[in-house]
Amino acid sequence: MRKNVKRKINATRILMAILSLMILIIVFLTGYIYLNNNLAEDKIIINPENAKYTIGYGKYSNEIIDGGYEKNVEDGITVFKTKNGYLKIDGTLFTDEEKALIIQKFINNTINDYKTFDDLGNSETFQNEVKDFNKYFSDIGFAEENIILNHPNSENLPLFINIPYYQSSKFMEFFFSGKNLAVELIEIPQIVPKPTFEINPDALMVALTFDDGPSSKNTLEIVEKLKEYNAHATFFVLGSNVKGREDIINSILDSGNEIGGHSWDHPNLVKVIDSELEKQLYWVKDAVKEASNNGYEIKLFRPPYGAVNQHVKNMSPYPLINWDIDTLDWKNKNTEKIIANVKDNLKDGSIILMHDIHEVSKTAALELIPMLIDEGYQLVTVSELFEAKGIPLEKGNVYFSAR
Ligand code: ZN
Repeated sequence: MRKNVKRKINATRILMAILSLMILIIVFLTGYIYLNNNLAEDKIIINPENAKYTIGYGKYSNEIIDGGYEKNVEDGITVFKTKNGYLKIDGTLFTDEEKALIIQKFINNTINDYKTFDDLGNSETFQNEVKDFNKYFSDIGFAEENIILNHPNSENLPLFINIPYYQSSKFMEFFFSGKNLAVELIEIPQIVPKPTFEINPDALMVALTFDDGPSSKNTLEIVEKLKEYNAHATFFVLGSNVKGREDIINSILDSGNEIGGHSWDHPNLVKVIDSELEKQLYWVKDAVKEASNNGYEIKLFRPPYGAVNQHVKNMSPYPLINWDIDTLDWKNKNTEKIIANVKDNLKDGSIILMHDIHEVSKTAALELIPMLIDEGYQLVTVSELFEAKGIPLEKGNVYFSAR
C-alpha cells in the first residue's frame, strides 16, 4: 500500500519535472528566436534562414569577388551587386583597428565554440596568423549562408573561413553594434545570369533541330536530355501547337535552347496566297511571344517541307533555315536507321533535321545527344552555330549548314 503511494508520488514528481523542463525549453527557444530575429532586423537586413544578399567589406573595390559578386566603393558608400539586386550601405564600415578587434573577438568567441570553418581554419598555424588581422585579412563578407573572411596575403590565395549565420550571432552583434548602418536594397532592372554554356569556336559543332512540335508526349524528355549533357537544340514549332503547351515552350527556353517558327499550321508556303503567307509567317511569332514568360521573339524560320521560292524569300522577315542532314525519321520509324543516317553524314557545321512529334525520333534523340558529344561535337542552337562560325544570318536567305 505504502509502496503504491510512494510510486504515485514519484510518478507525479517525474511528470512535474518533465513539464517544468518543457516549459523551460519553450521559454528558452522563444527568447532565442526573438533575440535572433531582432538581431537580424536591427543590425542587418539579412534573413539568416533565407539570405539572398551578399554584403562585404574590403580594400578591393570595383572587382568581382568570390561567386561573381561585384562591389563598388564610392565616396564612402559601398554598393554590392548581388544576384537579386544592389545593396547600398551608407558610411565607411570599419577601421583597421576595428577589424583587428572583430577578428580577435570572433576567434575567441565563435571559433572556439563551434569549430565550423574549413580544414585551414582548424590548423594551429592559421589561428596564430589570424590574430594579427591587419596583416592577413582584407575582406569580411557575408555570403548566402556564411560569414567569409578573406585572407589575401598568403601563398595559398585566397583563403576563406565560412561560418554559418546561425552560429554567428555573437559575431554579428559585435560586428554591427553601434554602427547604425543603413542598409537598403536598391532595385535594378535585370541581373543577367552567368552563362554556364560556353562554345569553343575552334571545336566541332552541330545543330540538332526538331520540327512540328511542341509535343506534349516527347519534347520535354528531349529538353531534359539536352540539359543533362549541357547541350542546346533548336525547336521549330507550329504556332497552332503552342496554345495549352506554354509550359513546354518555357521549359525549352529556360535551359538555353532556341525556338524558331515553322509556320502556323504547316502548308506549303509556295502554294498559298499572300494573306495566308503573312499569317503563316507572323502568327507563329505572336503565339510564341505570348506563351513565353519573357516575351520571346523568334528570329529564325523553317519553311514547311523546306519549300521556298523567290516570293517566299522576299516576304520572309526571318532567315530561312533548312538542313543538310535529313534523318528521315518520319519515314524510317526506326531508331537505328535514324542514328546511322546522322553518323554517315555528320560534318562540322551540320544542321540535323528531326521531328519531336514522333516517338521514334525522341528515342533516337535521347541516344544521339550523348553519342554526338562523345564524338567531340558541341550541340548548339542554330543561332549559336552561325555566330560561332562567323556567318551572318540574313532575312530571306536560305541556309542549309554553317559551312
Ligand atoms: Zn514540318
